[in-house]
Amino acid sequence: MKKVYLETFGCQMNVSDSERVATILEADGFEITPFEDSAEIILLNTCSVREKAEHKLYTRIGQIRKSKQNKSAMVGVLGCVAQLEGETLFNKSEGIDFILGTKAVGRIARAIENSKVGQKQFVDLGEREENYDWFVSEHQRHSPFISFVPIIEGCNKFCTYCIVPFSRGREKSLPASSIIKEILKLRQEGVKEVHLIGQNVNSYRPPTDSRLEDFKGATPFSRLLRAVAATGIERIKFATSFPRDFHTDIVDAINEFENLCNWVHLPVQSGSDKILKTMRRGHTVDNYLKRIDKIRSSPRQISLSTDIIVGFPGETDADFRETLKLAEYCRFDSAYLFKYSPRPGTPAFAMPDDVSAEEKTARFLELEKVLRHSQFNSLQNELNKSLEVLAEGFSSKSKEFLTGHSKCHKIVNFEAGESFLGQIVNVQITECKTNTLFGKIM
Ligand code: SF4
Repeated sequence: MKKVYLETFGCQMNVSDSERVATILEADGFEITPFEDSAEIILLNTCSVREKAEHKLYTRIGQIRKSKQNKSAMVGVLGCVAQLEGETLFNKSEGIDFILGTKAVGRIARAIENSKVGQKQFVDLGEREENYDWFVSEHQRHSPFISFVPIIEGCNKFCTYCIVPFSRGREKSLPASSIIKEILKLRQEGVKEVHLIGQNVNSYRPPTDSRLEDFKGATPFSRLLRAVAATGIERIKFATSFPRDFHTDIVDAINEFENLCNWVHLPVQSGSDKILKTMRRGHTVDNYLKRIDKIRSSPRQISLSTDIIVGFPGETDADFRETLKLAEYCRFDSAYLFKYSPRPGTPAFAMPDDVSAEEKTARFLELEKVLRHSQFNSLQNELNKSLEVLAEGFSSKSKEFLTGHSKCHKIVNFEAGESFLGQIVNVQITECKTNTLFGKIM
């Protein structure tokens, strides 16, 4: 039985793809090993969102080829870098045996077979098979209690700084009937929480599917949310949402169904209309804030997270002040903050990167202070409350503490034994630190 070591970089979509690759290989008689040294085949599922992530790949291949144990292992590059670079990767880095694009991962066994029979430098950047199986076997999931369920792949938005539409292709929604069937099966297997994933989940536009006809909703996505909620699975989260396609009916659905978790991730990227236009985000500050007002005035408290880029080409100090103003207004519960770095292959790469590195750092730190303040306030608001937490694993600091997320996606650590793993428990919040809540099981 050939041993395969699989390493994943990047987003949830890549983690989910790797789970499927492992499922396919296992069914084909390969053994997935967590030990790189003993592997005969090493697969790197790559991320291309930042140029730095791409360079990481070249470093990793160098390390693999230098190591005594892995010198003769077969090395396959999968995912976004593979899709973007194709066969040019063979020139950029020695020691790659085959390349498999984002939609070709279902043909992983064939790629290995071809390389084995001596077809060196095999490349497959083709389309997904019509009958591609999105199924992930129970023990190849990243967690026994949580499962990622892709509902849409690709992206049509072409934000000027982003490489994803080039690496993942156009948006394609999965049929609602197969999503629901999968979730019913996961529920039977004891999964407590599903994450509906996609670059823009709320742009979901499935092929005609009678499965959604019984559910009300202003958009196919809000109908899908109600249909998934009706499966009775205990918790449903979804990410990422695209502001322009975020219909406020999603908030109504969260209020109607207790198992739809009260957390929305809605990347804004900038608080300046001028910059949003240069980014080609397709929304303005005003229509973003209308959605925020609906979320903030929801009867059920909904936590809100975002992504923001500082130092985008053309961002003046006045533009940045607008972003600060927006962050203060929105009081985000958490945020991912990035300094702009030009990504080759994107339209923004041709724009002058005219905000100096020092200025980017200064803006980053100033905005970070505002975001930290709102995040800490949000955590403090949970003090003395009881939160339902899914016990996902041991805390990294101590085996006596378990860690998990609340429904509103806050990290909670609490003292409890192994027997609580996989359970949803009520935790009384007693303390909060920068990013984490602490509490006691009630
Ligand atoms: S919406 Fe914009 S940022 Fe998000 S994946 Fe698509 S192009 Fe990239």
